[in-house]
Amino acid sequence: MNNQEKELFKTLLLQLRKELTGQMEQIVETGTETTGKEAAGDHSSYSFHIADMGSDTMEREKKFLAVQRSGMTVQEIDEALERIENELFGTCELCGCKIPKERLEFIPHTKYCINCQSKQEDDTHTPEWTEEEGEW
Ligand SMILES: [Zn+2]
Repeated sequence: MNNQEKELFKTLLLQLRKELTGQMEQIVETGTETTGKEAAGDHSSYSFHIADMGSDTMEREKKFLAVQRSGMTVQEIDEALERIENELFGTCELCGCKIPKERLEFIPHTKYCINCQSKQEDDTHTPEWTEEEGEW
């Protein structure tokens, strides 16, 4: 990975980080008081959507989960930024292979190649995929 690519992913990661922390602040702010504001504004750009179903408790729970999830991603982004500095970015943490650029562009904070990712997710049961499937 050359310097230009490293800079590109650094920018991507920082951008994503800013978005997430901004979202988290928003949720925390709106979560503490019950105003009608959130129903009015355009929230279509957010990945979570405050639907009109469910009680206040459910809404709070959803907000809490969204913050928690964003917090985890922010942590992963920080780790990815560290890996850029240590020349480890783009290398799968499990098998050591190179993670394809298309995957990194899609999920810049990922630590694993697609094979290892699905292995992790399917850890509890026998995975269905085979080695020769795809060039990931
Ligand atoms: Zn791997």
